[in-house]
Amino acid sequence: MRAVVFAAEGELTVAERPEPVPGPRAVLIETAAVGICGTDTHVLDGEFEGTVFPLVPGHEATGTVVALGPGADQGPTALAVGDHVAVNPSSTCGECDLCLTGRQNLCRAWNGMGVVRADGAAQQRFTAPAANVFRLRPDTDVFEAALIEPLACAIHGWDVLPRRMGDHVLVYGSGTMGLLMAQLAPRAGAASVTIVDVNPDRLVTAAEVGIEHRYTSADDADRAEWDVVIDCTGSIAAIEDGLPRVMAGGVFQHFGVAPAETTARYSPFRIYRDEVSVVGTMAVLNSFGRAVAMFEAGAIKARPMISHSFTLSDYGQALQMFRAGQGRKLQVRPNQDTSQILLG
Ligand SMILES: [Zn+2]
Ligand SMILES: [Zn+2]
Repeated sequence: MRAVVFAAEGELTVAERPEPVPGPRAVLIETAAVGICGTDTHVLDGEFEGTVFPLVPGHEATGTVVALGPGADQGPTALAVGDHVAVNPSSTCGECDLCLTGRQNLCRAWNGMGVVRADGAAQQRFTAPAANVFRLRPDTDVFEAALIEPLACAIHGWDVLPRRMGDHVLVYGSGTMGLLMAQLAPRAGAASVTIVDVNPDRLVTAAEVGIEHRYTSADDADRAEWDVVIDCTGSIAAIEDGLPRVMAGGVFQHFGVAPAETTARYSPFRIYRDEVSVVGTMAVLNSFGRAVAMFEAGAIKARPMISHSFTLSDYGQALQMFRAGQGRKLQVRPNQDTSQILLG
């Protein structure tokens, strides 16, 4: 069986590996698709907290159950061979103070498949605990469904936003996360959604998924202030541009991952005087099953968001393309023989 292996910091190989065997209450999954995101580059570059090498990457995965470990066919998460599934990559200790106060996404011993210690899905088959495996409807596109993991992050993002019906929402960044946050906004009650990206090519995707107001600068927008401003770029320039555009009583969200050592400037007076909230959001918290439901309800236009698929051998090429900011969502499809351009 073939697998992408991050052998050490900066060292990417494709290797032959023994077939994984599912343990108690775990299943073996034949991988359909694995999304690539910034986290993968941070893991390979040794910038992700706690990564243990060697590690198979891949945390945005779907596939088909091909074998069951003991007991995986029982209980509330019972699975069967042939099920199409999406996999929640997070596991938590269940014992630390943060887990015990309902903040499992902030667990002090947080383990993410393909990012910390457990092997990920950039291989032909992988195992996962049944509790992390969510069954898809047979008619759900199992490749497009690899967007469910980032969608689960987006739903947690909306969960932690103080907001009201009829809010006007501004999103910075028309990459995968910005497009997901923006597409969820009407579902969360937004009266209008505006998206800003300095790259006009990315705004084309925003148009294709149905975001009405699109600008390369918020200065060109038809309003000057918004109830909710969400940064999905992690860029300090975007953050410093966006925070002053929050209207009095509104909220600014840090969704994008800024480099750990950077700082941004804002006016504490303004935060005080206008009761502006600033909130963070981190990964997935009890939102994976809801992401499956929202995906299958058609809340997201997935097709225009995914531009290329890659074989395991071409994984390095996929990462290069990601780093160069080319394409839309890039996927690895470990059981396909050819890499493909999915959008003409
Ligand atoms: Zn990701
Ligand atoms: Zn914990």
